[in-house]
Formats: sequence, C-alpha cells, structure tokens
Amino acid sequence: MDLSFSPEEESFRGELRSWLQDNVSSEVTSEFASLEEEFRVLVNWQKRLYSGGWVGVHWPREYGGRGATMVENFILQEEFGRAQAPEIVGRIGINLVGPTMIAHGTEAQKRRHLNKILAAEEIWCQLFSEPNAGSDLSSLRCRAEREGNDFVINGQKTWTSYAQFADWGVLLARTDPQASKSRGISFLIVDMKSPGVTVRPLRQMTGSQEFNEVFLEDVRIPVENLVGEMNQGWQIAQTTLSHERGTSPRQLVIHHILLDALVQLAHNTPRGETTAANDPIIRQKIAAVFSEVEIFKLHNWRTLTQIRRNGKPGPESSMVKLFWSEMSQRLHDVAIEILGPHAVHWMGAPRAEWNGRWLRSYQYYRAATIFAGTSEVQRNIIAQRVLGLPRG
Ligand SMILES: Cc1cc2nc3c(=O)[nH]c(=O)nc-3n(C[C@H](O)[C@H](O)[C@H](O)COP(=O)(O)OP(=O)(O)OC[C@H]3O[C@@H](n4cnc5c(N)ncnc54)[C@H](O)[C@@H]3O)c2cc1C
Repeated sequence: MDLSFSPEEESFRGELRSWLQDNVSSEVTSEFASLEEEFRVLVNWQKRLYSGGWVGVHWPREYGGRGATMVENFILQEEFGRAQAPEIVGRIGINLVGPTMIAHGTEAQKRRHLNKILAAEEIWCQLFSEPNAGSDLSSLRCRAEREGNDFVINGQKTWTSYAQFADWGVLLARTDPQASKSRGISFLIVDMKSPGVTVRPLRQMTGSQEFNEVFLEDVRIPVENLVGEMNQGWQIAQTTLSHERGTSPRQLVIHHILLDALVQLAHNTPRGETTAANDPIIRQKIAAVFSEVEIFKLHNWRTLTQIRRNGKPGPESSMVKLFWSEMSQRLHDVAIEILGPHAVHWMGAPRAEWNGRWLRSYQYYRAATIFAGTSEVQRNIIAQRVLGLPRG
C-alpha cells in the first residue's frame, strides 16, 4: 500500500485548501430552510467553484476539466469534506453523465451539454431504477419506440434523485422487446421539460423530498439523443455505474467529524452522577466505532493504491462501499443509544441535541446500504469477483 502523495499532489491540495479557506462561507455550510432554498444556494456555490476551476477536475482539459488524476480527485473530495463544503449539486451530471458522454457521446452531444453541466446551468438526473427493476436493473420495462426521427417513450422510473430540479435526464429504455434482458436496452437523453414527463416527489422519513417518481407518457425525443449504438445501452450504463462506487474520501472525512461529535455527545449527556462518557459499555462501543473508522481509512488507501496501479478502482471498491455504509449505521446506533428517549427530538425542539441532527443523520444513513448497490449486491460482487466464488 502506498501512503504518500507526490509533490505535485501536495501542491494541488495546497492550492485547493487555500481557495476553500477564502470561499467557503456560512451561507453554504449552515442549515437550509427548505430543499428549494438548498438547491438555489448550491447552484450558486457550484457556479463559484466553476469560476475557480474546481468543478469536474477529473474531466479532460478539452471538455473544461483540469485533466486531474483520480488521486487528485480523491484529494479534492477529502479537502471538500475537511472544509465542510457541501456536495456539488450537479454531481449526477459531473460524476456520472459527463464521463459517460465523454466516453460514448457524439461530438454534438458533448458540445451541447458538457459545459452547461460544469457551470450548473443545467442539472441532470439519472432515470435508471423502476418500481420492479432496482438491483436487477436489466429487467427494466420502460419502452422507447422509433417513430420517424423520434423515439416515443412510455414507462415509469422511481427513486430519481433531484428529478424535480433537473433539466435533463439519462434514461435506460427497452428498444428491442424481443431481445433477452440486457441486450435490447438503449441509453437516451431526455429533456425533463418535454410534454408527457410528470415528476412526483416522494417524501422520505427525514421529511425531505429528494427523490421522485417519474412518469413518461408518449414523450418524444429526437433520435440525436441516443447515446452510442441502439440496443447497446447496457454496456454504456456500466460506464455510468462504475463511477458510482470507487473510493469514499468524503465519507471518510464526514465520519471523522461524526466520531468527534459522538465523543462530545457522550461527554455532554448526563448518566446519573456523571456522563455517558464514563459508562464502560458506551466507552467500549465508541472505541469499536473509532477502530472501524481507522479500518475504513485503510480500505480507502488500498483502493487508492489500486487506482494508482491500474487507473481505475477494481471490484474491491464494493468492499469500501459495503464497509462504510454499514459502519455509518453502527456509529449512529451508538449516538441514538447515548441519547436514549431524547433522540426523538426533532430540529428546533429545545432539547434537540445538535439541533436534531443525530436523528436526521441516523435516518439518512439508512439509505446508504441501498443506494449505489445494496449491501447484498455488494456481497455478491465481492464473492464472485474478488473471492472468485461460484454464482449461487
Ligand atoms: C437515496 C437514494 C437515491 C437514489 N437515487 C437514484 C437515482 O437518482 N436514480 C436511479 O435510477 N435510482 C436511484 N436510487 C435507486 C437505487 O439504485 C435502488 O434503490 C437500488 O438499486 C436497489 O433497488 P430496489 O430499491 O429496487 O431494491 P430491490 O432490488 O428490489 O432489492 C430489495 C432487496 O432484495 C435484495 N436483493 C436484490 N437482488 C438480490 C440478489 N441478487 N441477491 C441478494 N439479495 C438481493 C436487496 O439487497 C434488497 O435488500 C436511489 C436509491 C436511494 C436509496
């Protein structure tokens, strides 16, 4: 495992750290009154980052990036986490759509879309999952039929993050109903303002409505919106999905912050004559979480070494995703145990510890073992592709 950064990487870190020191303001780090408010502030934040040259750094220079290595991109996410800078609002466009379009799109598609993705002029969503096609994505049923110079789309998508704000979406649809599962799928670009697109937000247990159901009824899109070859969409989607995993430097920094907050919480929470920090069982549980965060750091380093050697993360990145998502739930379990009945105090309640952040964060991280591949799916990948075990 290689734990050192080169002088160029350290200078990249230094430049970014000082830019963030000058530019991260309380407007972007404080609590938002609503999702709409959050969206508005974060679009402006991305525009600022863009003017500083810090959006899509891993994209090639010819498409507006810096041609940064994956290691530098790791450093960037780490520094964002350290500065408590929010995640980039156009991240689906930057992390998933852009790299897919650069690899498989036409020149016209690249010229039309890439710059607007970076500049937060247009926001994208990912129209992959359906009510009966999540882990088993290749069984999707949304159809796209060719009529003259258009495709006509009919179907339903679900769990589509930020669809209510999106200008564009990347869509997987079946273009050959006779072909077996993954063979008859195409990868299409949809204008979310097209007639026939209905977006219905879904309320989560956090109270927020980040994801949506999307209904497509006779939605017409021009054939120029096909990415790659007809019926080859499954291979193209693999490019998109491979960018969803990898390393998790941001989660590493967030978990260091959460760990500090957990220790603080134990010190602040009364237990009889003393505090929870003196309860031997709580102390053991915090020590266990501390060890897990350290192990997570080593998992990240190992994946980073893999990237240095091979240019991309291998199937081992599933171990990183599986480990951090389950670790985060165990960390939050300890926080809820310390808080006891007070854990239920919501934002704004007088006794809400950390302004109710523990409960919201606990609820949010329930989703971590589902998005970007569930824990069971990660275990299957590890079993088959890392350990070489036979398919069950
Ligand atoms: C916060 C969040 C944001 C999301 N954003 C988007 C988005 O923007 N766009 C989008 O397209 N999708 C999005 N998703 C959807 C996400 O990709 C799916 O939820 C995920 O792929 C799981 O699919 P599913 O929910 O249909 O569950 P299912 O696939 O139905 O799984 C149900 C259960 O069965 C288990 N299971 C399934 N198959 C196997 C197997 N082969 N072996 C063992 N166990 C199995 C699963 O692990 C799970 O426990 C988002 C999800 C979340 C939670």
